[in-house]
Amino acid sequence: MGLIREKLQMSWLPSLLSEKRKRGPPLGLKNLGNSCYLNSVLQCLTYTPPLANFCLKFQHSSHCDSSSDSAKIRDCPFCLLEKRIVRSLSLDQTLDAPAKIQSCLRIFAEHFRCGRQEDAHEFLRYVIDSCHNTCLRLKKLRRKAAADPSNGTSSVVKEIFGGALQSQVKCLSCGAESNKVDEIMDISLDILNSGSLKDAMHKFFQPEVLDGNNKYKCDNCKKLVAARKQMSILQAPNILVIQLKRFEGIFGGKIDKTIAFEEVLVLSGFMCKSSQDPQPEYNLFGTIVHSGFSPDSGHYYAYIKDAMCRWYCCNDSYVSLSTLQEVLSEKVYILFFTRANQRPVSASNNFASNGVNLIKMEMRSIKA
Ligand SMILES: [Zn+2]
Ligand SMILES: [Zn+2]
Repeated sequence: MGLIREKLQMSWLPSLLSEKRKRGPPLGLKNLGNSCYLNSVLQCLTYTPPLANFCLKFQHSSHCDSSSDSAKIRDCPFCLLEKRIVRSLSLDQTLDAPAKIQSCLRIFAEHFRCGRQEDAHEFLRYVIDSCHNTCLRLKKLRRKAAADPSNGTSSVVKEIFGGALQSQVKCLSCGAESNKVDEIMDISLDILNSGSLKDAMHKFFQPEVLDGNNKYKCDNCKKLVAARKQMSILQAPNILVIQLKRFEGIFGGKIDKTIAFEEVLVLSGFMCKSSQDPQPEYNLFGTIVHSGFSPDSGHYYAYIKDAMCRWYCCNDSYVSLSTLQEVLSEKVYILFFTRANQRPVSASNNFASNGVNLIKMEMRSIKA
């Protein structure tokens, strides 16, 4: 198939877009009853260039079993997303209702209910995970049919959003190091003690001493010892999604303060020493803002940068031209960055992952 290791198309191909999308604003999405979280996530995914290009070329559905089968067995999450993105970018209209996705919510997340406000970040994770799992399922089928000899857990979704963190623990008695790799689809940052994205990143990646009640069992010393733990980025993703943990304030309140951020983000200070990709540079192309007090109430809206590099505020049906200054002045919840250059292939898969914890999901609370 070759579609997995294929180079991503990271920049827009205007020929694939409708005239309306080239000349005018993004397609507005009707609110179908507390669906602003869904609309916001869909707008950001629609304006994620490598994902949009992949969808506009029907690179998922043309290989999917759910669209080729005459007797349709199941609704496929990736086919649904592809259709939605293609509609948004190729319709010559100003307004549309994402009714199909809304009515198929449970295909992405079983416990989601139509008409109920959900957490946008949680929804985003479910969409990404379900599309990734679909790719893996199709890959397994192809492998059975010997049509695809490639192995492993890669998928176009992981190629777009996936990265890897290394967590290194160094014993302060004997100096032995232990490295653990976790594959990630996004990064969630604590912001309680930070005023800016940079500061929150620094805190996330700063070394932490494990001591006192939190000692580390060293395999070499064979006892509990003081140790230093350090996180670093082993593989920088092509599309970097960052969630600011606004809903983890003291007593469960929302952390509603301003967190400063910039259009450009360079990860140079946080990369793993052994990485061959020392200075990944990113540009902001989307944000999701939440106003209100809890993730399942209040209101979500999104900002996206379109193919012509114009910023728009997408607030359900209402789409308005915006500016970078306005985007940067908002109290954002989720940030979307794209790499200035696609990650070098050499930096793509040269690590042994734990495998188990492919998707680290931090669920805040199980909803009834
Ligand atoms: Zn499909
Ligand atoms: Zn030791």
